[in-house]
Amino acid sequence: MGSFTHRIYNFNAGPAMLPTPVLEEAKEEFLNFRGTGMSVMEMSHREKPFQTILDESIADLRSLLSIPDNFAVVYFPGGATLQFSALPLNYLQEGDSADFSLTGVWSNKAFEEAKKFYPNVKSIFDGKESKFTAIPKLTDAHINKDAKYVYITSNNTIYGTRYKEIPKLKNAPLFADMTSELLSRKLNINDFSVIFAGAQKNIGPSGLTIVIFDREKIPNVNHPIPNLMNLKLMDKNGSLYNTPPTYSIYIAGLVFKYVKKLGGVSAVEEINERKANKLYDFLDQSTYFYAPVPKENRSTMNVVFRSHDDSRDKEILDEFEKQGFAGLKGYRDVGGFRASIYNAMPEEGIDALVSFLKEFERSKT
Ligand SMILES: *Cc1c(COP(=O)(O)O)cnc(C)c1O
Repeated sequence: MGSFTHRIYNFNAGPAMLPTPVLEEAKEEFLNFRGTGMSVMEMSHREKPFQTILDESIADLRSLLSIPDNFAVVYFPGGATLQFSALPLNYLQEGDSADFSLTGVWSNKAFEEAKKFYPNVKSIFDGKESKFTAIPKLTDAHINKDAKYVYITSNNTIYGTRYKEIPKLKNAPLFADMTSELLSRKLNINDFSVIFAGAQKNIGPSGLTIVIFDREKIPNVNHPIPNLMNLKLMDKNGSLYNTPPTYSIYIAGLVFKYVKKLGGVSAVEEINERKANKLYDFLDQSTYFYAPVPKENRSTMNVVFRSHDDSRDKEILDEFEKQGFAGLKGYRDVGGFRASIYNAMPEEGIDALVSFLKEFERSKT
Protein backbone atom coordinates (compact mmCIF):
# COMPACT_ATOMS: atom_id res chain seq x y z
CA MET A 1 0.00 0.00 0.00
CA GLY A 2 1.22 3.47 -0.82
CA SER A 3 0.83 6.65 1.17
CA PHE A 4 -1.29 8.72 -1.18
CA THR A 5 -2.80 12.02 -0.20
CA HIS A 6 -5.39 11.86 -2.97
CA ARG A 7 -7.90 9.35 -4.33
CA ILE A 8 -6.23 6.97 -6.76
CA TYR A 9 -7.53 4.89 -9.67
CA ASN A 10 -8.97 1.92 -7.85
CA PHE A 11 -9.46 -1.14 -10.06
CA ASN A 12 -10.44 -3.46 -7.21
CA ALA A 13 -12.97 -6.16 -8.08
CA GLY A 14 -15.00 -5.67 -4.90
CA PRO A 15 -15.38 -4.00 -2.56
CA ALA A 16 -14.74 -1.53 -5.30
CA MET A 17 -14.53 2.14 -6.11
CA LEU A 18 -17.63 4.27 -5.43
CA PRO A 19 -18.37 7.55 -7.22
CA THR A 20 -16.45 10.37 -5.52
CA PRO A 21 -19.51 12.71 -5.52
CA VAL A 22 -21.45 10.06 -3.59
CA LEU A 23 -18.75 9.77 -0.96
CA GLU A 24 -18.56 13.55 -0.70
CA GLU A 25 -22.30 13.78 -0.18
CA ALA A 26 -22.13 11.07 2.50
CA LYS A 27 -19.26 12.94 4.15
CA GLU A 28 -21.24 16.17 4.12
CA GLU A 29 -24.18 14.43 5.83
CA PHE A 30 -22.13 12.12 8.02
CA LEU A 31 -22.59 13.75 11.43
CA ASN A 32 -25.95 15.39 10.89
CA PHE A 33 -28.23 13.92 8.26
CA ARG A 34 -30.46 16.67 6.90
CA GLY A 35 -31.14 18.35 10.21
CA THR A 36 -31.91 15.17 12.15
CA GLY A 37 -28.91 15.85 14.39
CA MET A 38 -27.58 12.34 13.87
CA SER A 39 -25.76 10.17 11.40
CA VAL A 40 -27.78 7.74 9.25
CA MET A 41 -25.77 5.07 11.07
CA GLU A 42 -27.33 6.13 14.38
CA MET A 43 -30.96 6.23 13.27
CA SER A 44 -33.79 3.90 14.12
CA HIS A 45 -34.70 1.77 11.13
CA ARG A 46 -38.35 2.07 12.24
CA GLU A 47 -38.58 5.85 12.05
CA LYS A 48 -39.45 8.18 9.25
CA PRO A 49 -36.05 9.54 8.17
CA PHE A 50 -34.71 6.05 7.50
CA GLN A 51 -37.99 4.80 6.03
CA THR A 52 -37.76 7.66 3.53
CA ILE A 53 -34.19 6.70 2.61
CA LEU A 54 -35.28 3.09 2.10
CA ASP A 55 -38.41 3.92 0.10
CA GLU A 56 -36.64 6.41 -2.14
CA SER A 57 -33.78 4.01 -2.83
CA ILE A 58 -36.19 1.30 -3.94
CA ALA A 59 -38.28 3.70 -6.02
CA ASP A 60 -35.11 4.97 -7.71
CA LEU A 61 -33.88 1.45 -8.46
CA ARG A 62 -37.30 0.54 -9.83
CA SER A 63 -37.26 3.51 -12.16
CA LEU A 64 -33.61 2.98 -13.23
CA LEU A 65 -34.28 -0.62 -14.26
CA SER A 66 -37.98 -0.22 -15.22
CA ILE A 67 -38.90 -2.96 -12.78
CA PRO A 68 -42.54 -4.04 -13.29
CA ASP A 69 -44.93 -3.95 -10.31
CA ASN A 70 -45.23 -7.71 -10.03
CA PHE A 71 -41.54 -7.84 -9.11
CA ALA A 72 -40.48 -7.35 -5.51
CA VAL A 73 -37.29 -5.42 -4.75
CA VAL A 74 -35.89 -6.49 -1.39
CA TYR A 75 -32.71 -5.78 0.54
CA PHE A 76 -31.06 -8.77 2.19
CA PRO A 77 -28.09 -9.03 4.50
CA GLY A 78 -25.46 -11.71 4.08
CA GLY A 79 -23.88 -10.92 0.73
CA ALA A 80 -24.60 -12.51 -2.60
CA THR A 81 -23.45 -15.84 -1.19
CA LEU A 82 -26.47 -16.08 1.14
CA GLN A 83 -28.67 -16.23 -1.96
CA PHE A 84 -26.78 -19.33 -3.14
CA SER A 85 -28.56 -21.07 -0.21
CA ALA A 86 -31.73 -18.97 -0.10
CA LEU A 87 -32.84 -19.41 -3.71
CA PRO A 88 -32.86 -23.24 -3.74
CA LEU A 89 -34.64 -23.25 -0.36
CA ASN A 90 -37.34 -20.89 -1.63
CA TYR A 91 -37.90 -22.48 -5.03
CA LEU A 92 -37.16 -26.21 -4.67
CA GLN A 93 -38.51 -29.06 -2.57
CA GLU A 94 -37.24 -32.55 -1.96
CA GLY A 95 -36.70 -34.37 -5.26
CA ASP A 96 -36.76 -31.19 -7.35
CA SER A 97 -34.13 -30.16 -9.83
CA ALA A 98 -32.78 -26.96 -11.39
CA ASP A 99 -30.30 -26.34 -14.22
CA PHE A 100 -27.04 -24.49 -13.64
CA SER A 101 -24.76 -22.98 -16.26
CA LEU A 102 -21.24 -23.14 -14.83
CA THR A 103 -19.27 -20.26 -16.26
CA GLY A 104 -16.92 -19.56 -13.38
CA VAL A 105 -16.16 -19.62 -9.68
CA TRP A 106 -19.41 -18.02 -8.54
CA SER A 107 -21.79 -20.24 -10.50
CA ASN A 108 -19.84 -23.28 -9.29
CA LYS A 109 -20.25 -22.14 -5.70
CA ALA A 110 -23.98 -21.58 -6.21
CA PHE A 111 -24.28 -25.04 -7.81
CA GLU A 112 -22.40 -26.79 -4.99
CA GLU A 113 -24.53 -25.05 -2.39
CA ALA A 114 -27.80 -25.99 -4.13
CA LYS A 115 -26.57 -29.59 -4.45
CA LYS A 116 -26.13 -29.86 -0.67
CA PHE A 117 -29.90 -29.49 -0.22
CA TYR A 118 -31.17 -30.75 -3.58
CA PRO A 119 -28.84 -33.43 -5.00
CA ASN A 120 -30.80 -33.59 -8.27
CA VAL A 121 -29.69 -30.18 -9.54
CA LYS A 122 -27.85 -30.43 -12.86
CA SER A 123 -25.11 -28.68 -14.73
CA ILE A 124 -26.12 -27.82 -18.31
CA PHE A 125 -22.85 -26.16 -19.26
CA ASP A 126 -19.32 -26.32 -17.89
CA GLY A 127 -16.75 -23.76 -19.00
CA LYS A 128 -13.84 -25.60 -17.39
CA GLU A 129 -12.33 -26.87 -20.64
CA SER A 130 -12.27 -23.37 -22.11
CA LYS A 131 -10.59 -22.14 -18.88
CA PHE A 132 -13.86 -20.30 -18.37
CA THR A 133 -13.51 -18.06 -21.40
CA ALA A 134 -16.64 -19.61 -22.99
CA ILE A 135 -20.25 -18.50 -22.53
CA PRO A 136 -23.04 -20.75 -23.80
CA LYS A 137 -25.88 -19.57 -26.03
CA LEU A 138 -28.64 -21.06 -23.91
CA THR A 139 -31.97 -21.87 -25.48
CA ASP A 140 -34.97 -23.94 -24.41
CA ALA A 141 -33.35 -26.93 -26.16
CA HIS A 142 -30.64 -27.04 -23.46
CA ILE A 143 -33.04 -27.06 -20.54
CA ASN A 144 -33.97 -30.27 -18.75
CA LYS A 145 -37.71 -30.97 -18.62
CA ASP A 146 -37.78 -31.20 -14.84
CA ALA A 147 -35.82 -28.00 -14.23
CA LYS A 148 -37.69 -25.65 -11.87
CA TYR A 149 -35.35 -22.86 -12.94
CA VAL A 150 -32.20 -22.08 -14.89
CA TYR A 151 -29.37 -20.40 -13.05
CA ILE A 152 -26.70 -18.20 -14.62
CA THR A 153 -24.00 -15.78 -13.46
CA SER A 154 -24.57 -13.02 -16.00
CA ASN A 155 -21.13 -11.43 -15.55
CA ASN A 156 -18.21 -13.51 -14.37
CA THR A 157 -16.17 -11.19 -12.19
CA ILE A 158 -13.11 -13.44 -12.00
CA TYR A 159 -12.75 -14.60 -15.62
CA GLY A 160 -13.99 -11.38 -17.22
CA THR A 161 -16.79 -12.90 -19.28
CA ARG A 162 -20.47 -12.11 -19.61
CA TYR A 163 -23.62 -13.13 -21.41
CA LYS A 164 -23.70 -10.46 -24.06
CA GLU A 165 -27.22 -11.62 -24.87
CA ILE A 166 -29.38 -12.60 -21.93
CA PRO A 167 -30.89 -16.05 -22.70
CA LYS A 168 -34.56 -15.90 -23.68
CA LEU A 169 -36.20 -18.97 -22.21
CA LYS A 170 -39.82 -20.07 -22.31
CA ASN A 171 -39.61 -23.45 -20.61
CA ALA A 172 -38.09 -22.44 -17.27
CA PRO A 173 -37.69 -19.23 -15.27
CA LEU A 174 -34.27 -17.60 -15.42
CA PHE A 175 -32.34 -16.72 -12.25
CA ALA A 176 -29.29 -14.50 -12.57
CA ASP A 177 -26.49 -13.52 -10.24
CA MET A 178 -25.75 -10.00 -11.51
CA THR A 179 -23.49 -8.99 -8.63
CA SER A 180 -20.77 -7.51 -10.80
CA GLU A 181 -22.96 -5.84 -13.40
CA LEU A 182 -26.34 -4.77 -12.07
CA LEU A 183 -26.89 -1.13 -13.09
CA SER A 184 -24.21 -1.25 -15.80
CA ARG A 185 -26.42 -2.38 -18.69
CA LYS A 186 -30.01 -2.12 -19.82
CA LEU A 187 -32.16 -5.11 -18.94
CA ASN A 188 -35.56 -6.42 -19.76
CA ILE A 189 -36.61 -7.50 -16.28
CA ASN A 190 -39.31 -9.75 -17.76
CA ASP A 191 -36.57 -12.02 -19.15
CA PHE A 192 -35.92 -13.10 -15.54
CA SER A 193 -37.74 -14.47 -12.53
CA VAL A 194 -34.98 -13.63 -10.06
CA ILE A 195 -32.08 -11.21 -10.25
CA PHE A 196 -29.77 -10.69 -7.32
CA ALA A 197 -26.65 -8.68 -6.70
CA GLY A 198 -24.28 -8.14 -3.81
CA ALA A 199 -23.82 -4.38 -3.59
CA GLN A 200 -20.05 -4.13 -3.27
CA LYS A 201 -19.16 -4.33 -6.97
CA ASN A 202 -21.23 -1.67 -8.63
CA ILE A 203 -23.69 -0.31 -6.07
CA GLY A 204 -22.43 0.28 -2.53
CA PRO A 205 -20.79 -1.24 0.54
CA SER A 206 -20.42 -5.00 1.04
CA GLY A 207 -22.82 -7.08 3.10
CA LEU A 208 -25.92 -5.73 1.35
CA THR A 209 -27.68 -7.70 -1.37
CA ILE A 210 -30.53 -6.67 -3.63
CA VAL A 211 -32.97 -9.36 -4.71
CA ILE A 212 -35.50 -8.64 -7.45
CA PHE A 213 -38.06 -11.40 -7.93
CA ASP A 214 -41.37 -12.07 -9.62
CA ARG A 215 -43.91 -12.36 -6.80
CA GLU A 216 -46.26 -14.37 -9.01
CA LYS A 217 -43.69 -17.08 -9.66
CA ILE A 218 -42.67 -17.88 -6.10
CA PRO A 219 -43.95 -21.29 -4.98
CA ASN A 220 -45.31 -22.45 -1.62
CA VAL A 221 -42.73 -25.01 -0.56
CA ASN A 222 -43.49 -27.76 1.95
CA HIS A 223 -40.55 -27.17 4.28
CA PRO A 224 -39.50 -24.37 6.62
CA ILE A 225 -37.18 -21.61 5.36
CA PRO A 226 -34.95 -19.63 7.74
CA ASN A 227 -36.57 -16.21 8.18
CA LEU A 228 -33.68 -14.16 6.87
CA MET A 229 -33.62 -16.26 3.69
CA ASN A 230 -37.36 -16.27 3.18
CA LEU A 231 -38.06 -14.14 0.11
CA LYS A 232 -41.80 -13.81 0.75
CA LEU A 233 -41.33 -12.92 4.40
CA MET A 234 -38.62 -10.37 3.70
CA ASP A 235 -40.79 -8.82 0.99
CA LYS A 236 -43.88 -8.75 3.21
CA ASN A 237 -41.85 -6.86 5.81
CA GLY A 238 -40.50 -4.36 3.28
CA SER A 239 -36.84 -5.34 3.86
CA LEU A 240 -37.37 -4.60 7.58
CA TYR A 241 -37.96 -8.04 9.08
CA ASN A 242 -34.94 -7.35 11.26
CA THR A 243 -32.47 -4.46 11.40
CA PRO A 244 -31.20 -4.12 7.85
CA PRO A 245 -27.71 -2.81 6.93
CA THR A 246 -29.01 0.75 7.15
CA TYR A 247 -25.90 2.70 6.24
CA SER A 248 -25.22 0.49 3.23
CA ILE A 249 -28.79 1.04 2.02
CA TYR A 250 -28.28 4.80 2.38
CA ILE A 251 -25.08 4.68 0.27
CA ALA A 252 -26.77 2.49 -2.36
CA GLY A 253 -29.58 5.05 -2.49
CA LEU A 254 -27.08 7.85 -3.13
CA VAL A 255 -25.52 5.77 -5.92
CA PHE A 256 -28.96 5.27 -7.54
CA LYS A 257 -29.57 9.03 -7.47
CA TYR A 258 -26.13 9.60 -8.95
CA VAL A 259 -26.79 7.15 -11.81
CA LYS A 260 -30.13 8.88 -12.47
CA LYS A 261 -28.32 12.21 -12.67
CA LEU A 262 -25.88 10.75 -15.21
CA GLY A 263 -28.86 9.97 -17.43
CA GLY A 264 -29.82 6.51 -16.21
CA VAL A 265 -28.67 3.03 -17.08
CA SER A 266 -28.63 3.51 -20.86
CA ALA A 267 -26.31 6.52 -20.48
CA VAL A 268 -23.91 4.68 -18.18
CA GLU A 269 -24.04 1.61 -20.42
CA GLU A 270 -22.80 3.73 -23.31
CA ILE A 271 -19.97 5.12 -21.18
CA ASN A 272 -19.14 1.61 -19.93
CA GLU A 273 -18.87 0.27 -23.47
CA ARG A 274 -16.62 3.13 -24.50
CA LYS A 275 -14.41 2.60 -21.45
CA ALA A 276 -14.10 -1.17 -21.98
CA ASN A 277 -13.49 -0.78 -25.72
CA LYS A 278 -10.61 1.61 -25.10
CA LEU A 279 -8.88 -0.98 -22.98
CA TYR A 280 -9.68 -3.98 -25.20
CA ASP A 281 -8.67 -2.06 -28.34
CA PHE A 282 -5.29 -1.37 -26.80
CA LEU A 283 -4.89 -5.01 -25.71
CA ASP A 284 -5.87 -6.35 -29.15
CA GLN A 285 -3.14 -4.39 -30.93
CA SER A 286 -0.48 -4.84 -28.23
CA THR A 287 2.43 -7.21 -28.84
CA TYR A 288 3.14 -7.46 -25.11
CA PHE A 289 -0.29 -7.71 -23.48
CA TYR A 290 -3.41 -9.58 -24.61
CA ALA A 291 -6.98 -10.29 -23.55
CA PRO A 292 -7.63 -14.06 -23.33
CA VAL A 293 -11.43 -13.85 -23.62
CA PRO A 294 -12.98 -14.08 -27.13
CA LYS A 295 -14.52 -10.78 -28.21
CA GLU A 296 -18.13 -11.93 -28.07
CA ASN A 297 -17.82 -12.97 -24.40
CA ARG A 298 -15.93 -10.02 -22.99
CA SER A 299 -17.16 -8.33 -19.85
CA THR A 300 -17.43 -4.56 -19.84
CA MET A 301 -16.98 -4.53 -16.06
CA ASN A 302 -14.00 -6.83 -15.47
CA VAL A 303 -11.26 -6.70 -18.09
CA VAL A 304 -8.91 -9.67 -17.70
CA PHE A 305 -5.55 -9.38 -19.45
CA ARG A 306 -2.17 -11.06 -19.48
CA SER A 307 1.35 -10.49 -20.75
CA HIS A 308 3.26 -12.74 -23.12
CA ASP A 309 6.13 -12.78 -20.61
CA ASP A 310 4.70 -13.49 -17.18
CA SER A 311 8.15 -13.44 -15.54
CA ARG A 312 7.77 -9.66 -15.56
CA ASP A 313 4.23 -9.54 -14.17
CA LYS A 314 5.44 -8.91 -10.64
CA GLU A 315 7.50 -5.95 -11.82
CA ILE A 316 4.44 -4.54 -13.61
CA LEU A 317 2.26 -4.98 -10.53
CA ASP A 318 4.83 -3.19 -8.37
CA GLU A 319 4.94 -0.36 -10.86
CA PHE A 320 1.12 -0.13 -10.90
CA GLU A 321 1.19 0.30 -7.11
CA LYS A 322 3.79 3.05 -7.28
CA GLN A 323 1.88 4.91 -9.98
CA GLY A 324 -1.38 4.82 -8.04
CA PHE A 325 -3.27 2.09 -9.91
CA ALA A 326 -4.75 -0.21 -7.26
CA GLY A 327 -6.29 -3.65 -7.53
CA LEU A 328 -4.94 -4.80 -10.90
CA LYS A 329 -3.68 -8.21 -9.83
CA GLY A 330 -5.58 -11.08 -11.47
CA TYR A 331 -7.60 -13.45 -9.30
CA ARG A 332 -5.42 -15.93 -7.44
CA ASP A 333 -6.27 -18.94 -9.65
CA VAL A 334 -6.22 -16.96 -12.88
CA GLY A 335 -2.98 -14.95 -12.65
CA GLY A 336 -2.14 -12.04 -14.93
CA PHE A 337 -4.11 -8.85 -14.50
CA ARG A 338 -7.67 -7.68 -14.13
CA ALA A 339 -9.03 -4.17 -14.33
CA SER A 340 -12.45 -3.90 -12.73
CA ILE A 341 -14.01 -0.84 -14.31
CA TYR A 342 -17.43 -0.49 -12.73
CA ASN A 343 -19.71 2.52 -13.23
CA ALA A 344 -17.67 4.58 -10.75
CA MET A 345 -14.38 4.30 -12.68
CA PRO A 346 -13.97 7.55 -14.62
CA GLU A 347 -12.90 7.39 -18.24
CA GLU A 348 -9.67 9.21 -17.27
CA GLY A 349 -8.76 6.15 -15.21
CA ILE A 350 -8.86 4.00 -18.33
CA ASP A 351 -6.88 6.59 -20.31
CA ALA A 352 -4.23 6.71 -17.60
CA LEU A 353 -4.01 2.91 -17.46
CA VAL A 354 -3.72 2.57 -21.24
CA SER A 355 -0.97 5.24 -21.33
CA PHE A 356 0.91 3.40 -18.63
CA LEU A 357 0.61 0.03 -20.42
CA LYS A 358 1.71 1.62 -23.72
CA GLU A 359 4.75 3.17 -22.10
CA PHE A 360 5.65 -0.09 -20.35
CA GLU A 361 5.38 -1.97 -23.63
CA ARG A 362 7.50 0.65 -25.44
CA SER A 363 10.25 0.48 -22.84
CA LYS A 364 10.38 -3.32 -22.70
CA THR A 365 10.11 -4.44 -26.29
C1 LIG B 1 -18.39 -11.01 -5.56
C2 LIG B 1 -19.38 -11.95 -6.12
C3 LIG B 1 -20.14 -12.81 -5.29
C4 LIG B 1 -19.92 -12.92 -3.80
O1 LIG B 1 -20.44 -11.85 -3.12
P1 LIG B 1 -20.48 -11.85 -1.51
O2 LIG B 1 -21.23 -10.58 -1.24
O3 LIG B 1 -19.05 -11.83 -1.05
O4 LIG B 1 -21.19 -13.05 -1.04
C5 LIG B 1 -21.09 -13.61 -5.90
N1 LIG B 1 -21.30 -13.57 -7.22
C6 LIG B 1 -20.58 -12.77 -8.03
C7 LIG B 1 -20.86 -12.77 -9.50
C8 LIG B 1 -19.60 -11.94 -7.51
O5 LIG B 1 -18.90 -11.13 -8.32
